[in-house]
Amino acid sequence: MINETMYGLGSAPSAIRELFAYGLARKQEIGADKVFDFSLGNPSIPAPDCVANAIRQFADMPAAELHAYSPAQGLESTRSAIAQSLNKRYGCTYTADNFYLTMGAAACLSACFSALVNPGEEVVVISPYFPEYRVWIEHAQGVCVEVPARSSDFQIDCEALGNALSSRTKAVVINSPNNPVGVVYTEETLKALASLLRAKQEEYGHDIYLISDEPYRELVYGGIAAPWVPSFYANTLVCYSWSKSLSLPGDRIGYVLVPDEVNESKRVYLAICGAGRALGYVCAPVFFQRVIEQCVDAPVNTEAYANNRQKLTSMLDELGYDYIAPDGAFYLWVKALEDDAQAFSDRAKQHELLLVSSDSFGVTGWVRIGYCVSAETIAQSYDAFAALKAEYDRAQR
Ligand code: PLP
Repeated sequence: MINETMYGLGSAPSAIRELFAYGLARKQEIGADKVFDFSLGNPSIPAPDCVANAIRQFADMPAAELHAYSPAQGLESTRSAIAQSLNKRYGCTYTADNFYLTMGAAACLSACFSALVNPGEEVVVISPYFPEYRVWIEHAQGVCVEVPARSSDFQIDCEALGNALSSRTKAVVINSPNNPVGVVYTEETLKALASLLRAKQEEYGHDIYLISDEPYRELVYGGIAAPWVPSFYANTLVCYSWSKSLSLPGDRIGYVLVPDEVNESKRVYLAICGAGRALGYVCAPVFFQRVIEQCVDAPVNTEAYANNRQKLTSMLDELGYDYIAPDGAFYLWVKALEDDAQAFSDRAKQHELLLVSSDSFGVTGWVRIGYCVSAETIAQSYDAFAALKAEYDRAQR
């Protein structure tokens, strides 16, 4: 007998991937410019020049060095460069020893859950949430507890969160800038969250970790910046990747940061190393460790996404759609025009609009538009969005 849980995960592709696969097939059938695929979070802008330059430079390195294993937690020099970059930006005093490099934010999160959670302990997620959280938490034998975000603005609802925390809570996961909503948690939200978690640690007499999932950290608009989460709450672990900020999702590189301020930080760090070992997430792709070392301070280009966001929101305003104004990431959270989000997504598909139903993120009634697409896709989708809205308006008359 094989492991049926793993079989289940492997044989049931996520709704997002399914929609993306449908889009690829449909583009073959009717032409790429006729399908408006807003399904996936694949960055649409190229990686900055420093990446190509670094690749060229390292290609000439002696092969034995270029292709050799690094230490399990990553090259010292790369971890040190990351530490210095964050120290400059956020006024911290991190060193290489605070970082574990691994394969993107996905592996970082999965390693954190495995490192922290004992069987039956709870990890709280704020819904709507990135669906893989549940998969990773359950694989670590934890229990995934969903707490709805505040309905008015999708910030954290600290009262609801307070009611969900229990003596079994091991960690809370937050993601800001957020997939799927695009919200960026304010300082006020993070302060309230931190004081709640401190009070609950005191009440239950054990650590409650905050896992801050930040692959969209630099993708913010309108002159705001995402606050640095560890400065609010000591027991914070940060999971980061360059998948979105430098458009390197296929190169699978990211880090877990365990600051010294975390209680018994050395033990926690070693547990991350242990989880990396148990899961086989050791020695992240070394070529890209070196590339990151060169590009760690490369400015993040948000211009194309900012333009897309502006075009899309004006179009939706004009057509009368409701949405949550996004401050970050590259997603727009739009109210479905009927209660059943999947039915709405199916209806949109008939207009060649590929919008992900909110059911995928644990809530009903919304769809996610990924606007990491070309500006043309947005411009050309106008008629489809208009026809979809008109169809619902007619049905209501
Ligand atoms: N967390 C969130 C919220 C994401 O949206 C994604 C990817 O889309 C990930 C984690 C995984 O990122 P990575 O590609 O770096 O593994």
